[in-house]
Amino acid sequence: MSLGKQDILAHFSHRFGQAPRWIIRAPGRVNLIGEHTDYNDGFVLPLAINRAAWIALRPRDDRRIAVYSVDYDQAAEFSLDGLRDEKAGWVEYLKGTAWALQDAGLHLTGWEGVLAGDVPLGAGLSSSAALELATARALAVAADLDWNPATMAKLGQRAENKWVGVNCGIMDQLISAAGRADHALLIDCRTLDTQPVPFPPKTAVVVLDTSTRRGLVDSAYNERRSQCEAAAKFFGVKALRDVTIEQFQRAAPQLDDLTRRRALHVITENDRTVQAAEAMRHGDAVLLGRLMAESHRSLRDDYEVSSDALNAMVECASAHPACYGARMTGAGFGGCAVALIRADAADDFVQKTSDAYQKKTSNDPAVYVCQATNGAEVV
Ligand code: ADP
Ligand code: MG
Repeated sequence: MSLGKQDILAHFSHRFGQAPRWIIRAPGRVNLIGEHTDYNDGFVLPLAINRAAWIALRPRDDRRIAVYSVDYDQAAEFSLDGLRDEKAGWVEYLKGTAWALQDAGLHLTGWEGVLAGDVPLGAGLSSSAALELATARALAVAADLDWNPATMAKLGQRAENKWVGVNCGIMDQLISAAGRADHALLIDCRTLDTQPVPFPPKTAVVVLDTSTRRGLVDSAYNERRSQCEAAAKFFGVKALRDVTIEQFQRAAPQLDDLTRRRALHVITENDRTVQAAEAMRHGDAVLLGRLMAESHRSLRDDYEVSSDALNAMVECASAHPACYGARMTGAGFGGCAVALIRADAADDFVQKTSDAYQKKTSNDPAVYVCQATNGAEVV
């Protein structure tokens, strides 16, 4: 049911009457733990998933990019010269990425192709980063550029920040660029160092889409970011990543309650994320699950970015005997939860958790078992 190479090949052949020169795949992601830590220069632990943006393309002789979006059933075209933001929807992600690469001094060339994806839009699995990295990889392959995942991730983030106008951290683009099959990546968001971490044996990662979508998320997100900056300033450090739990506890009484709770989440979450990677290296699913559950409580009570639907989903998932731990994932206020479960009980978990959630909320959830895949690649 998920989109594959044959599908994008068929779309290309249908439109162009021949096979493409290249096929690109760039994945969405789910974050196991380390939420709202990326913009605090901290650690995150995401995996690239088997849902992705795909582009099939062939070169052009001029400096134009022409793309047909299968999902929007819409064609768009632009020139690499004199790029302008026209607020034209999905194509702005491609233009923004081209702008970021050219602004970094890279020489691009024209191409045409088709774009299709199966990362649900706006669900918190980062379809936007998948699209940016697919675009970057397509631009790079067409112009015969070197591919450095971290460099391209930063340019993708720049496109999203400056062109699209979404103030995101580096996690989404970096995992889409640098993901590793069968592994999560422990990312140090300050140095952009990435370490692949294997999953505990006989476990599976499940994404649980509440089918609710975030409202008010941008203002709440920006508000959290400034609260974190205020807390970092209070501690006299560059980012909350530089504050230990002991330092925090000593100074906590002098902080106002709201700033204290925001900082408490970030500082403990950072610590949990490092511990979680360690637990994975030891194959300790029980500890990893417990850290995920603590992460959810911290996001719900201290950072206050969960929602009734997310809490209900996490409760339903956690109640299943095969679940090691579950938490909301992504920015919050809606979208998806993630669970770590015993792999041999996956079917039963999916069925029972979906039923329980539906009964509790009357929402129709989408629950799927994920595989960890490679980052943006020429297939
Ligand atoms: P997400 O949480 O999925 O990243 P965003 O709002 O950041 O949500 O990005 C979603 C937007 O990215 C869509 O509205 C669309 O403009 C663009 N996009 C993502 N995937 C595709 C795709 N397969 N085809 C066309 N546009 C896409
Ligand atoms: Mg996004």
